[in-house]
Amino acid sequence: MERARGREQRLVRAVGEVPLLLLSYPRGHHEAAKELERAWLHTLPALPEESAGPYRAMLRLLPTIVVVVMHRENVCGCLGHHHPAGTEGRLTRRLAAELGSTVGEIDLAFEGIRRWEPNPLAALASGATEALRFHAGLLSVMLHELEHLAYPDHTEREVRGTSDTFYGAVMQYLVHGETGMEYGIRS
Ligand SMILES: [Zn+2]
Ligand SMILES: [Zn+2]
Repeated sequence: MERARGREQRLVRAVGEVPLLLLSYPRGHHEAAKELERAWLHTLPALPEESAGPYRAMLRLLPTIVVVVMHRENVCGCLGHHHPAGTEGRLTRRLAAELGSTVGEIDLAFEGIRRWEPNPLAALASGATEALRFHAGLLSVMLHELEHLAYPDHTEREVRGTSDTFYGAVMQYLVHGETGMEYGIRS
């Protein structure tokens, strides 16, 4: 289906020491691409230092451009993957050849991320909407995969620890901004 309808690209340039993103998504799915763009351009820079800080050094290590291949779902069910050097797709390889530099690549399954609920009780207690969870999920899964790309030797456990904490911090930021409520379960 994706192949038949083709794909569209969207270049996202943020200020600061972060890579340029080239979002590649199935034609007609602007909404998911725009949501990711908003998260990257507006939410990430607005987060308090204690939340975004752990990713700052990692982002500086990435190539100047990272291609984010967005699918509705991944066949394996994963929400995302990083693509180690040498396993990139045609778009990324062509771009790297044209630029004469390294181009990174990850993929994200946006419909899988939309359904993802890592912390259902906290979401319920705070009244977090699906839209907020989708926004936080896109950003968290992307940063998770970018960390794998930046630090190939980091274990899944380490990378997962950072992104789980980050997800909670983003939800806290979004929920508080939208409803004034706290995100999480207080005991
Ligand atoms: Zn997978
Ligand atoms: Zn991982």
